[in-house]
Amino acid sequence: MRGKLVIGNWKMNGSLDANRRLLQELLPPLAAVKGLEVAVCPPFPYLAQVGALLEGSSVALGAQNLHSAGQGAFTGEVGAGMLEELGCRYVLVGHSERRSLFGESDETVAEKFEAALRAGLVPVLCVGETLAQRRDGSTEAVIAGQVRAVLQRVGGAGIAAGVIAYEPVWAIGTGETASPEQAQAVHRHIRALLGEATATPILYGGSVKPDNAAALFAQPDIDGGLIGGASLEAASFLAICRAAQ
Ligand code: PEP
Repeated sequence: MRGKLVIGNWKMNGSLDANRRLLQELLPPLAAVKGLEVAVCPPFPYLAQVGALLEGSSVALGAQNLHSAGQGAFTGEVGAGMLEELGCRYVLVGHSERRSLFGESDETVAEKFEAALRAGLVPVLCVGETLAQRRDGSTEAVIAGQVRAVLQRVGGAGIAAGVIAYEPVWAIGTGETASPEQAQAVHRHIRALLGEATATPILYGGSVKPDNAAALFAQPDIDGGLIGGASLEAASFLAICRAAQ
């Protein structure tokens, strides 16, 4: 049985004060929400602060990106071992903003996924099609290319040690969500691509809100959510976590 997982992606938001207030509001009621795993991914500079604030809670720490090299002359980059040392369990790889704004290719993303595994982290591979790709009927081919690039590098056992997040690019931060049926169809397609790694958790992301979360999470191949905007507000994130119970 695959359990449910909800991950908050704070993107480039937060401050020492805002992070403390958010977690002070979120963690006490979240302690009563059982039967799922929850993680939050703050920006790099706040990992240590947020890690300390999460101590004693069951909420895991995650990062939003990493470099595929462990260390070296890569100014401005962060290695997997550093994230592990700071207490991260998860790391996002290939978020659509990384792919579109920072030019990350499927191969770069696969290298990052492998580097995260090597350091003992759980990589969360983000995949998804643009609106143009959905309209021209290439959604399944695009997703297959993104997933297979990682499968070819780490194999079924490697991908099964991670998580996949299906995030249609047209639904990220737009307020437009895939319908539960649209999301389920792509999740089923992803699961079919995984072969022996069929138990890999597959999350849905893209404008998940308290009022649409339950219907999405009720789909048979949706194992939880990757939540952007709504993870910055304790009440919304809490309601989404409750919907995943
Ligand atoms: C995301 O950033 O991964 C995301 C899904 O954002 P939002 O929930 O704001 O659409």
